[in-house]
Formats: sequence, C-alpha cells, structure tokens
Amino acid sequence: MNYKAPRGTHDIFGISASGVSLLEQRAKVIFKRHGFEEVRTPAFEDAALFMRSIGQATDIVEKEMYIFEDRKKRKLALRPEGTASLVRAFIEHRMDVSMPAGRFFYMGEMFRYERPQAGRYRQFHQIGAEFFGSSSPAADAEIIILAQDLLSSVGVNEMNVYINSLGCEKCRPLFREALVKYLGSVRDLCEDCLRRLEKNPLRVLDCKTDSSKFTEVPGMSDYLCDCCKDNFNLTQSLLKSAGCNYIVNEKLVRGLDYYTKTVFEIRSNAIGSQDALAAGGRYDNLVGELGGQNTPAVGFALGSERVLLAAQKTGFFGSFQESEKIFIAVADQELFSEAFSFAVKAMRNGLKGNKNISVFGPVNGKSLTSQLKFADKVKAVKTIVFAKTEFEYGKFLVKNMKDKTQIEVLINEF
Ligand SMILES: [Zn+2]
Ligand SMILES: [Zn+2]
Repeated sequence: MNYKAPRGTHDIFGISASGVSLLEQRAKVIFKRHGFEEVRTPAFEDAALFMRSIGQATDIVEKEMYIFEDRKKRKLALRPEGTASLVRAFIEHRMDVSMPAGRFFYMGEMFRYERPQAGRYRQFHQIGAEFFGSSSPAADAEIIILAQDLLSSVGVNEMNVYINSLGCEKCRPLFREALVKYLGSVRDLCEDCLRRLEKNPLRVLDCKTDSSKFTEVPGMSDYLCDCCKDNFNLTQSLLKSAGCNYIVNEKLVRGLDYYTKTVFEIRSNAIGSQDALAAGGRYDNLVGELGGQNTPAVGFALGSERVLLAAQKTGFFGSFQESEKIFIAVADQELFSEAFSFAVKAMRNGLKGNKNISVFGPVNGKSLTSQLKFADKVKAVKTIVFAKTEFEYGKFLVKNMKDKTQIEVLINEF
C-alpha cells in the first residue's frame, strides 16, 4: 500500500495519544474551576469569517489557510484557529445580548499550511478559552494565569510569560505613526515587511527575517493613553499579587489583527525555540466588528503538540502511570465461557479493587502455548489461566509473566 498521511499531518497513538487526552482532561478540570464552559464549533467555516477577524495582512490569511469550495461553490476554510469561530457562535446564538459575560473553552483540531517542524503540524490540536463581557484587567490576569496553570498541569513549569499592551483605537494610531516613521528608516526590509508597512505596520515587528534589525524601535508604552496605561499597570499588579512572574516585551505584537490592549505569550526553553507554547490577549472590538453588540473579550490558545513536546523534554511522561495488563487464558476450552465472563467482570470492576488495569479476554481455539505468546505480545504482567484441574477446586493459576512463576489462587478471592 502506498498511502501515507499527508505532509504535515501525523497519526497520534501510544504515549502521544495518552498525552493529548491527558492534557485535555486536565484542561477540562482547570477550566471548570474558573467557570468556563465547553463549546464545540465546526471544523470549517465561511472563509470570510477568518479573513475578516484574523486580518488580511497576516501570515494565516495570506499563506496558511486551507480554503476550498464546496459543491455549491461556497467558499469555506478549515479553521486555522478557534477565536473567530467562538465569536461567530457567541453572536449567532445571541449570547452577546442574553449572557454578555460568557466564559467558554474549546479544544480540537486546527489547520494551517505551514512548513512542518518539530511539534508543528498542518493539522494540530489547540486548547483555548475566551472570556467575554469583562473589560477588567482581572480578566486579562486570570486568562494569563489559566494558560500558565494548563502548562504546569503537564509538568511544564520552566516558562517565561511575556506581556505587552497594544493600546486602543485612541492611542494606537499615534504609536503606529511613530512606528511607520521608524520602519521607513530601516534598510533592506524583506518584501513581506514592505507590503505590511502600509497595510499593517505592527505586523512588521513579527518578521522572523528582519526582527534583529529593529534595535531602536519605538515602545508602545510611551504612547499609551491614560486608560490603557492604568489597565496595563493593574494587569501587572494583579499578576504580581497572584505570584505570576512576567516580563514586559514591547516588541510583542502577536500575529493576528484583532488584539487590543493586553497581549501575551508563554515560551519555554525546554523546546529551545522562539515559538510560543501558549498565547493570547484582549480583543475588545471583534464582537462588534463581526456584527454583535460591543462586548469586551480576552482569550488564549495553546498548541497541544508543542506543549507535549516541552512536557516530554521535562521528563513528564516518565511519571506516567501505565495500567497493569492482565491476560486471561484457557488451558481447557470447555472453560472458555467461564473465563470470558470472568474477564468481562474484571473489565467492568477492576481486579481486587485495582481499576488501573487493562484486561485482554480469552482467545478461543488456540493452544495454551500460543495464548501465552500472545500475552507476551500485549506485554501482560500477569496471565490468569483457567484449567480444569484447578477449576474443580474453585481456583485458577496466576502466572507472573516476568519470572514465569505461577501460583494457585481461589477465584472468588480475586
Ligand atoms: Zn488607549
Ligand atoms: Zn521582513
């Protein structure tokens, strides 16, 4: 067979699959404690939704979206991120009117046509949250802490939290003007930068090719209006009071257009890369811009594959408690149904109160030798053998697969 998973996609199994589910399970517990509810949105949406919300002059919209036409010539896109869909759902279900203080989380596959590299795939998993209806810096601080707690929940503790404020529609234009003036003086900008300088100069700061040239870039902090300044200061003091260490990075602008005021990124040295594990920020205008009632909002997202790569580097998976594998075998085929019903009972209730087991039921029509070989293949720790001689006395044999010793045990004691 010549079929392979498409470039940039991967099959997730074994320990990686356990990692993805474990991260999602832990995230659900943490989200619940913060009062966030789950929302599942479609994997594809009207392509225009993403173009409008993420912004035309962004990498995602210019280069990375999977856009296609369906059979009725509708222009659709596989979702490249979660926020646009959540905002669309929030407005579509009139939650902007009925519950303007909604807190939601999502988890699922996202799609971006990017160059595949370690922990970066074209289909990847994201976990994210959106906090609608609060303009308080307490919401910004809570979202940052939430993202940090999710990372810690899978053993990623060594991280740096970078924050910045992008200002509001009042003060950002002044900064933008100063930035354009400065960038105009930088020589040899790449083509992307030259184009973005006109459309979206903030995005120029994100350029991976040119970022080292921006040594004397003006800082947003000098341009923030009093309201934005107060907001940013309060966000910082709340983070401090909650014991969250952060670094202010004035070059942090994030790759999406909808951010206002606080933006943040969490990076870890564990994967030795410039890329963020989790990121987000405030987007006070997006709900209004997409046709809803003006609703302030703040959110974040993390890429599960990248987080798990960092978790792996910190040795988190070494502490994984694997279930104990138990194989049920029959030496005499006439005991097959007894063995089978015993196996089902163990699958339902565990064995001797131990629920962290995986039970492999009996295989009929095979010799005991080949059943034991199979037990080794599934890496069983113990094999329980139903044999006539012992069964007559209400017993079976428990074989230790490592040292090959065996003992007789009373069935109803097990
Ligand atoms: Zn402002
Ligand atoms: Zn550039």
